[in-house]
Amino acid sequence: MNFDKTKTDAEWRTILSPEQYRILREHGTERAFTGAYWDNHETGEYHCAACGAALFSSAAKFDSGTGWPSFYQALNADAVAEKTDTSHGMVRVEALCRRCGSHLGHVFNDGPAPTGMRYCINSASLAFQKKQD
Ligand code: FE
Repeated sequence: MNFDKTKTDAEWRTILSPEQYRILREHGTERAFTGAYWDNHETGEYHCAACGAALFSSAAKFDSGTGWPSFYQALNADAVAEKTDTSHGMVRVEALCRRCGSHLGHVFNDGPAPTGMRYCINSASLAFQKKQD
């Protein structure tokens, strides 16, 4: 996959908080029920916390009970890239921002209708933009 390589590691470190850097750039995971958005029910869009690309709509968010913000689909086909992840002795599908390659979370096939997919995403990887009415 080709991602924008417009920023160096050192630049990401200055832009992102230490926690965001660990998750977005080092494939980390935040502790469940600690992030800003797992219990957010406001209407709006979730953007990549690194590059600002629009990734998910609140319309596809559901309460998974996992303690991480969960979506049954990405905003569109160009938003999220998926890649096999064999770390930690598991075979999982990693979700990445398609624009900048930052780590978002993982994708599972135990989600609700209509897709049956569950995008399990770190709050720290997201920046919520509330819909203006
Ligand atoms: Fe991004």
